Amino acid sequence: MNRRQTLRAGASLLGLLAATRFAVPAFAAGFPVERSEAEWRALLSPAAYKVLREHGTERAHTSPLNGEKRAGRFVCAGCDLPLFSSQTKFESGTGWPSFFEPLPDAVGTQVDTAYGMRRTEVHCRRCGGHLGHVFDDGPRPTGLRYCMNGVSLRFEPAA
Ligand SMILES: [Zn+2]
Repeated sequence: MNRRQTLRAGASLLGLLAATRFAVPAFAAGFPVERSEAEWRALLSPAAYKVLREHGTERAHTSPLNGEKRAGRFVCAGCDLPLFSSQTKFESGTGWPSFFEPLPDAVGTQVDTAYGMRRTEVHCRRCGGHLGHVFDDGPRPTGLRYCMNGVSLRFEPAA
């Protein structure tokens, strides 16, 4: 295999592992908004499905939301629940939209030990859709960095 094929094979294997790992805890937990896999596939773009429902990760620096500077809020691409205010967005330099605090009662977290790392996974409280991870190297006032996949969010400018 050449490098590209190796990467692709590796990525799909990791994706499979991630999906397997999370399929039980995340989706058996029961969320207020639940849909069948077919319904989610019909509702979401392939890229959003991969992140939200299969715990994928979008490529860094690919989301148009990285550069979104307007006032407004970021809602779940799966169920429209408002998740983050533009007031908590900051430039992390990671290539993913980053926030120091979610809106109240917007997200849930769980420990993620995939890929040999111990991270805290962040998902939508209402539909369970995977959003990204939270790290403790963020700015004041919380010191947290919610590292989000832009494809799992939709921006609504303030009226
Ligand atoms: Zn949601």
